[in-house]
Amino acid sequence: MEWFTCPECGSDDVEVIRERGREVTLRCNECGNVWMVTLPKPIKVPLIVSKHERSFKTSVELPGGEEIKVGDIVETEDDEVRITGIELEGDKRVERAVTGEIKTLWGESLTYPKVIKASIYLSGGTTQAFKVKVPRDEEFVVGEVLEVGGYTFRVEKIKTERKMLHHGKAKADEIVAIMGHHIPRARARRKLEIYRGYSKESG
Ligand SMILES: [Zn+2]
Repeated sequence: MEWFTCPECGSDDVEVIRERGREVTLRCNECGNVWMVTLPKPIKVPLIVSKHERSFKTSVELPGGEEIKVGDIVETEDDEVRITGIELEGDKRVERAVTGEIKTLWGESLTYPKVIKASIYLSGGTTQAFKVKVPRDEEFVVGEVLEVGGYTFRVEKIKTERKMLHHGKAKADEIVAIMGHHIPRARARRKLEIYRGYSKESG
């Protein structure tokens, strides 16, 4: 944040030595300069948080005049949310905006597990698809053998938000789907948990 840069020497090795409301006294560890700043008033911005198929209306307090962009992570009272959409007055959608001009923010809950699709190609040309829930930092690797719903399969492709991977690995957080052929007698490295829908998760 720009308020935490020393106005004398430009260092950002700065320490807060006193806080009274929005009045903050700072000291520079580089040159010893001590100064005070008044933090901008926080603005309450409406925020719609999605937990896979369900959405919840809440709000987030952000410093006035701060720029927010798609991909930023904000903290609400009980959640951590990655911004996925910004709407201004007149239903205008933008990639970035300053807090005062935002009408609504959209975001994805990062404390809710990631739900991805697993498509298993069966012999005979049919496909068995499952929704599975996984921790967001779990890695998936092309070539590994997994099990879901009693089907073992080898991961052949990983579809992320940006591209289709035919080799390599990806974190669940950015994965949309994994797919591969059913291998009936293979031993799975791990078993994935089927997602049962929002109400079952929160109960
Ligand atoms: Zn300084």
